[in-house]
Amino acid sequence: MNPNPDGLQSPGYKISPELNANVSITTLDRIYNWSRRNSLWPMMFGLACCAIEMICTAASRYDFSRFGMEVMRASPRQADVMIVSGTVTKKMIPQIVRLYNQMAEPKYVIAMGACASGGGPFKEGYNVVSGVDKFIPVDVYIPGCPPTPQALLNGLIALQHKVDGESLRNVRWYGKEAIPAIPVPVLGPDLMDPRLYAHIREYEQQQAAQADGVAQDEAQEGA
Ligand code: SF4
Repeated sequence: MNPNPDGLQSPGYKISPELNANVSITTLDRIYNWSRRNSLWPMMFGLACCAIEMICTAASRYDFSRFGMEVMRASPRQADVMIVSGTVTKKMIPQIVRLYNQMAEPKYVIAMGACASGGGPFKEGYNVVSGVDKFIPVDVYIPGCPPTPQALLNGLIALQHKVDGESLRNVRWYGKEAIPAIPVPVLGPDLMDPRLYAHIREYEQQQAAQADGVAQDEAQEGA
């Protein structure tokens, strides 16, 4: 029997028991995903109370190094997973998008907790983004306020399953098209998303045309 059914060995290939510890028959996809899923390095940053639970998950009691994730990287260039752990404020989102852009492919995002997933208890707040997925793509959402360390571990395992299901034939980072960076939002009097500039311009033109129409009507009535 294979001692590690989730390991490198591809199911369906019989290997004699005496060779089982030394020989594996596998596919390129499986060895590629097996090595990546067991060395997903998270980026070392936290945003709010959820970050305390993330820190607990890294500490000795829960210890996510058991899943090959102990090397938290302070540089986005060396990180594979961004764990968005906490409230995403409008002041913080430009930095989050910039860090995401600086991560090398393949890269993944986990939205940890109610705030990162949808704004949480601060959803209607003037300073809060209602979900980090408004700006960057999220691979795994973890519910809770805050999620427990066990829930974060479950989310990380869900991400490993997602990696298991990828294939070299169609992963985006080996595609012919360059992957465009996400435009970094601009924080002015309010948060401006550069992807919406065309829409905002169109809206402003409509408003200006409407105001012109009203002014002309008033002028005609006055004459
Ligand atoms: S989801 Fe709850 S625990 Fe997590 S950052 Fe928001 S308020 Fe804090």
